[in-house]
Amino acid sequence: MSNPWIRVRAQIKKAATKIVLNPLFESTILNPDLVAEVSVPLRMDNGRTKIFKGFRVQHNRIRGPYKGGLRYHSHVDMAEMKALAMLMTIKNAVVDVPFGGAKGGINVNPKKLSERELESLTREFARKLAPLIGPRIDVPAPDVNTNSTIMKWIADEYAMVTGKVQPAVVTGKPVEIGGSEGRIEATGLGGSFVLQELVKKLGKKPAEMTVAIQGFGNVGFFIAKFLDKTGFKIVAISEENGGIYLPDGFGDIEVLYKCKEKKGFVAGCYCKGSVCDLENKEKMGACDIGAAEVLELPVDIIVPAALGNAITADNAGKVKAKIVLEMANGPTTSKANEILDKKGIAVIPDILANAGGVVVSYFEWYQNIQNEKWSKKKVLDKLEQKMKSAVDKVYETSEKYKVDLRQAAYILALSRLNSS
Ligand code: NAD
Repeated sequence: MSNPWIRVRAQIKKAATKIVLNPLFESTILNPDLVAEVSVPLRMDNGRTKIFKGFRVQHNRIRGPYKGGLRYHSHVDMAEMKALAMLMTIKNAVVDVPFGGAKGGINVNPKKLSERELESLTREFARKLAPLIGPRIDVPAPDVNTNSTIMKWIADEYAMVTGKVQPAVVTGKPVEIGGSEGRIEATGLGGSFVLQELVKKLGKKPAEMTVAIQGFGNVGFFIAKFLDKTGFKIVAISEENGGIYLPDGFGDIEVLYKCKEKKGFVAGCYCKGSVCDLENKEKMGACDIGAAEVLELPVDIIVPAALGNAITADNAGKVKAKIVLEMANGPTTSKANEILDKKGIAVIPDILANAGGVVVSYFEWYQNIQNEKWSKKKVLDKLEQKMKSAVDKVYETSEKYKVDLRQAAYILALSRLNSS
């Protein structure tokens, strides 16, 4: 079942068999409150006009304003947005922040646009979204291929349409215009807190565990950096066009990331000290790997941190790791999950593992609404508390109901939503 919309609904229904839910609530949670598709015309640099499709799905607001990212990617479609919006409702309940769920984006490959085209497209999209969003209604944030600059353009356009500057209309903004300290690293850092807690509960030590990561964007880089810092050994990283496997472990994740930024991709970044050169490859005992091969390496932990449906029925049987930390949204299909389960592989679900971003988004929104400015230390300390408390609650629920961590996270979220 690789359609994420069907998959998430099936997961909700499965969890709902374990607890008593209000029947009206159950049917409400299985459908979005609102789906919007807009056309976004853009005058290209060559003078021609192209029409792009934009989406926003507002899934549920029982616990607070709709909240979720905006993604720019050529795979973006309504089915994916509906599933991801539903996942946001669940995720926000798992980490206990007072938000509902939403998701949106544009079907576009932003890498093919100039800076001017990207800004015009975003501003036009923001004008179309303006009647639907607002600090107490629906609060977008960055997601795949969107960033703080794009959030700034949206906040700016929203202010022009409404005649009022309201930074809380989006999160993930630059710090100078009301963004929160710590937002940029929040998802990766949050994931590292989750993994550390669970590894502790399983009686293992980070220093004994090797890690392979798929994706080296915002999430992939920060999870690599913080896991490395806490003693895990990062041995492989891949991106869309391939990656590298270094059984002895990478020396310095920051150096590797600088190399990726310079070249545009991590493949071929054989860095020894500060020198990144293909000639180092043999000396380091390293080798090239394919984008998906990273998930089949003989390591203890794999971290899908790129796109959805990365682990399917085709490759799940080849996974050798004992733990899957889902940093991407929806990286494991249902069939794959069953296969991993049979093999005794623990899957740490996306709705827990990657919730650090939305937790700090909540802190950003709260600071904007209350007119406060927190230090980075305060933000990251509070993030740690929130993530650790979510891990404890999910773990406790999994023991109580004798279910895996994904079902436990769904049960916890549904109980919280049901009693809101
Ligand atoms: P990003 O655009 O910064 O990075 C994406 C990375 O994935 C890039 O390194 C890209 O090369 C790689 N990639 C793309 N296709 C690939 C493929 N087929 N094989 C291997 N690598 C591939 O995006 P991001 O913000 O890091 O988000 C990554 C994932 O994490 C997404 O699923 C996103 O929904 C999820 N997520 C992000 C956040 C956040 O705060 N950024 C929060 C929660 C969840």
